[in-house]
Amino acid sequence: MHDKSVAQLIAGLRAKQFTSVELSRCFLDRIAALDPGYNSFITVDETAVLAAAAAADERIAAGEAATLTGIPIAHKDIFCTNGIRTSCGSRMLDNFVPPYDATLIDKFNREGAVILGKTNMDEFAMGSSSESSYYGPVRNPWDSSLVPGGSSGGSAAAVAALLAPAATGTDTGGSIRQPAAFCGITGIKPTYGRVSRLGMVAFASSLDQAGPMAHSAEDCALLLNSMAGYDPLDSTSSELPAEDYTARLGDSLQGLRIGLPKEYFGEGLQAGTARRIEQALKEFEAQGATLVEVSLPHSHLTIPTYYVIAPAEASTNLSRFDGVRYGHRCSDPIDLHDLYTRTREEGFGAEVKRRILIGTYALSAGYYDAYYKKAQQVRRLIKQDFTACFEQVDVIAGPTTPGPAFALGAKSDDPVAMYLEDIYTLAVNLAGLPGMSIPAGFVDGKPVGLQLIGRHFGESQLLNVAHRYQLATDWHLQRPAGAIGGAA
Ligand code: GLN
Repeated sequence: MHDKSVAQLIAGLRAKQFTSVELSRCFLDRIAALDPGYNSFITVDETAVLAAAAAADERIAAGEAATLTGIPIAHKDIFCTNGIRTSCGSRMLDNFVPPYDATLIDKFNREGAVILGKTNMDEFAMGSSSESSYYGPVRNPWDSSLVPGGSSGGSAAAVAALLAPAATGTDTGGSIRQPAAFCGITGIKPTYGRVSRLGMVAFASSLDQAGPMAHSAEDCALLLNSMAGYDPLDSTSSELPAEDYTARLGDSLQGLRIGLPKEYFGEGLQAGTARRIEQALKEFEAQGATLVEVSLPHSHLTIPTYYVIAPAEASTNLSRFDGVRYGHRCSDPIDLHDLYTRTREEGFGAEVKRRILIGTYALSAGYYDAYYKKAQQVRRLIKQDFTACFEQVDVIAGPTTPGPAFALGAKSDDPVAMYLEDIYTLAVNLAGLPGMSIPAGFVDGKPVGLQLIGRHFGESQLLNVAHRYQLATDWHLQRPAGAIGGAA
């Protein structure tokens, strides 16, 4: 059961080949046996999992099943889950049990999907390696000496190691796509505003977006169908009606114009990754697509722009963690100032503190125009680059990351080297576009991700392009050796 796609699991549940309780039990057993080696989950509540699965089985038996009824899904520990701890990978929220569900969780619950557990992540989603978690680093199932990417590294590792059939993640600058690439799975960051942010712990509110992570584009489409849609409780969510994201799967790629930004294939891209991407592009050509060179001339400005805007927004969002309302509180404060400072000193890790310092500096009265305002202006230019490209092409393709997964510890003392990991992913968030990563082969046994970028609200087309690739290739069906075997 553990190596079936979500689509196959839905069919199996309907055909009564197995029950949701059996399916959930299978994943719980695998988590218990294998996750000590990966550390991909922070919280798994077995009793709640089995109760939800039993309720799903009743619903299926009553003939009232929705698409995802009975399917276990792992959720990044950034989404508020009623009655289940939501830590966001931080000591600050180690004791936080939300009294409500994020809209996205609520939607899955209404469908009767099972919350399998909460996955490990970089603290407050800040990072590209899942090493900054208060709960310790996550390991890459393909090679446990490597990072799984971040910040949704727990979700990516859990899916890759077959500990969950699918998972949710969030992507502020690449945190769905980059770990998907490093772990050899498929992930999509939808258009900004497509999925509600209510109940998703805020990092950088103008960039954050939730999306699905699974083995295939088809499975991502099935999950996105439940996640997407207008939420009156999130003022940045789009009123545009959500689509059936499976409806266009299988459409021909004949005549599709794929743009290759020359800036994504130049210096900095590792040779092995470049070869895999070039090979993948040939498959699209074989299916009738044409490749067109395009340019995103402000690409070199995306890292500095993002690393002003994201920390600025983070510094204001994280000001709520003051030891008064909820979360960690230092013991025996002598006065209010001591309460604030010691709570934050103890509750936040080094990367979070670094971002708060950068953000507060960039927003301070004397520097606002020089940094934050300037970054917003450059953000507009970056967005215009994409608008110009999409006049010539339908989708944009390139690498997700400069190279495959790196060793644990290799960049943890060098924040700038870590930030360079995001070179091909950040612009998509700055422009609010949908982007995805799909498995496109291996370099020395390490997975490589192909990135596809679409027009605003072009998720259906992106998923179809990915699906067509996956019909013709089997990279998404490869499994790490350690994940094979165990409870079936
Ligand atoms: N790696 C980027 C950062 O550290 C992106 C993180 C994310 O998308 N949440 O900010």
